Amino acid sequence: MKCIFCKKDSTESKSVEHIIPESLWNTKQILPAGVVCDKCNNYFSRKVEKPFLCSPDMEALRFHQAIPSKKGRIPPIKGIISGSSSPIRAHRVLDGEDVVTNIELDTEQFELVKSGGSSQLYLPMGFEKPTVSETSRFIAKVATEALAQRVLGHEGGVEYIVDEEQFDPIRNHARYGQPKEWPIYSRRIYDANEDKEIHGEKGQLVHEYDFLHTSQGELYFVLALFGVEMTINVGGPDIEGYEMWLKENNDESPLYSGKNASS
Ligand SMILES: [Zn+2]
Repeated sequence: MKCIFCKKDSTESKSVEHIIPESLWNTKQILPAGVVCDKCNNYFSRKVEKPFLCSPDMEALRFHQAIPSKKGRIPPIKGIISGSSSPIRAHRVLDGEDVVTNIELDTEQFELVKSGGSSQLYLPMGFEKPTVSETSRFIAKVATEALAQRVLGHEGGVEYIVDEEQFDPIRNHARYGQPKEWPIYSRRIYDANEDKEIHGEKGQLVHEYDFLHTSQGELYFVLALFGVEMTINVGGPDIEGYEMWLKENNDESPLYSGKNASS
């Protein structure tokens, strides 16, 4: 058995690979041990998933959406109280089905809040976004693994993904950052706070993905995270075909309607 990224023998590998990181509420989208070797699995979690998930923007989203990491910790964020110069730190914890927000205040801030006044708490919605290459390498990783997931049940399916040279650029971008740049198309398709979040269903709302075949013979991978749709061309570092597809399809998301309509 060979790894779909480095193509080295992965027969002895022990770790299953989470296509979407566990920190994003994923327990179901998993590849069996060996599809991604232990070395690549470890590399991705440190060098690709972590920089993406721990960017200030993603941490703010995980905070507001109360998405715990696999260790059960929701990332804290910094906010401010009007009238005070020092930042506060907000923590959220899950108490059964409820999300409890705890605010850490220093003495000065505590006095300010106690005195009533007009002190208001501000928690930012988002800060710096992950960099373009942090995002594209993350999406390229998820896309390559989703390809493998598609063919898992078919004899020789995963071997085909390993051997097929047309997938070399995208796997190398994910694994080695080569080519260095790979444009993705990103837009918000629904509000991250849309109130359909029931905990049992939450995983689906946090992340959804699918492939799109266009009539031009191109293959795109479309991932939505917290209502932000991010699309990558599986065939090469070029996104024009998707922009054209959007024009022809009234900017619909391939994830929800009109899927593959023009193919
Ligand atoms: Zn590998």
